[in-house]
Amino acid sequence: MPALHASPVTQNASEMMRTKKHVSDASAELHRVESIYELLSRSYPTFDKTDDPWMTNGLSSTPFRCLVSVCLSTVTITPRVVKACVPLFERVSSFEELLALDDEELRAIIKPVAHYNRKTTNLKTMCKQILQDFGGRIPDNHQDLMKLQGVGRKVADIMMNFIFHKDTIAVDTHVLRVLNRLVLVQTSDAEAAADQINAITPVHYKRHAHEWLIQHGMQVCTARSPKCGACCISELCSFRTADALA
Ligand code: SF4
Repeated sequence: MPALHASPVTQNASEMMRTKKHVSDASAELHRVESIYELLSRSYPTFDKTDDPWMTNGLSSTPFRCLVSVCLSTVTITPRVVKACVPLFERVSSFEELLALDDEELRAIIKPVAHYNRKTTNLKTMCKQILQDFGGRIPDNHQDLMKLQGVGRKVADIMMNFIFHKDTIAVDTHVLRVLNRLVLVQTSDAEAAADQINAITPVHYKRHAHEWLIQHGMQVCTARSPKCGACCISELCSFRTADALA
């Protein structure tokens, strides 16, 4: 028996249907992304309008402070970063002064943060690199920032966004969790997630996206027991728990 083949006319019609569905799915997802950011932007202030201890203690008040404090913040909660940075920034205000600080004294000051031994070595190496390789200035691009000891993708993204005012989104553990629950990204790798979310976020939301997403992750979409019933974007999230559906 000869094989049955769809006529060219039927084939074209089904291809058109598939293309149409793809376009309509893509446009629905674009609308969902826009709606998520719009609701988040109405629900959370930008960092400069918060009384977050990071801001009130001036941890990002200069490029020097921002780079050092963000490097010290890796796997460390904010209160411990503040505990280390406040006395450190009373003692030093430049890469030259930080490099000149005795290693033992630096180690003692930053002891509240995780991996303070390694971070002491990293900070000293980073200071030398900035002074010797970059003329004392923090590089203003991802590639050179990531040449600095202790600077990874997240720190580079934060510097590009907060200090160099570029439209880029940094992904930390809170942001990564929120993005995966919303299925805006589907990866446990923070760098891959940063690539994906930067690709799909409309440019007019990029500057403050990190600030809204991190507040949402810390206050509502928490690691354990997310408060879906109080979530401003629960209608747009398929992860939402039963209390949001009640
Ligand atoms: S509905 Fe729940 S899981 Fe989804 S974003 Fe809101 S808090 Fe997170």
